[in-house]
Amino acid sequence: MYICLEGIDGAGKSTQMERLAQWIENCGLTVTRIREPTDSPVGLLIREMLQSPQAQDEGFQRTLALLFAADRTLLMDTISNEKETGRIVLSDRSFYSSLAYQNGEEWIAQINQYALEPDLVILLDLETEKAIARCEGTDKFEEATFLETIRQRYLKLAQEHGFMVVNANNGVNKVHEDIKRIVAPKLGM
Ligand code: C5P
Repeated sequence: MYICLEGIDGAGKSTQMERLAQWIENCGLTVTRIREPTDSPVGLLIREMLQSPQAQDEGFQRTLALLFAADRTLLMDTISNEKETGRIVLSDRSFYSSLAYQNGEEWIAQINQYALEPDLVILLDLETEKAIARCEGTDKFEEATFLETIRQRYLKLAQEHGFMVVNANNGVNKVHEDIKRIVAPKLGM
């Protein structure tokens, strides 16, 4: 099973993914943890490029979209192999992050044609103001507008693709319990 956590920056994906991974392991199943951007050379290049002052330029954004797709394509064999051996693949982000963050839905779908569809997507939905408070923003106004756009895209994707939406404004323990309630029946627990 390939389970993915999605959400805007600050939504708590990495914390919740680790809590979920530990819970699944305590239940006796084996977990493979992945994250996007990955730790491959392409993923490292993406992380470096995200720091660039030109990161918001159009050409730069298109290049980033291609790199995200390449990084993800590299990952897909790993995911299918792990799934075949019965491991639970937990991922911090997926193809849907590209649909939320990068522009041009049709083109994004095209360049991600090799991306596997997650078996379960959990969207951690956090209010933008809370996300801003959790992250250190340089330009708070610009960041709020940007994050709100991404949040709304995620909520639309959730409706269209049947994501499970969890209220990430709650405390860490409550969010973990909500996620467990969604995952447990899928894993036969
Ligand atoms: O999830 P994480 O914080 O590690 O992601 C790194 C950065 O990459 C985030 O700031 C996120 O906004 C950005 N990102 C992106 N497009 C994606 C995935 C992540 O711009 N498809």
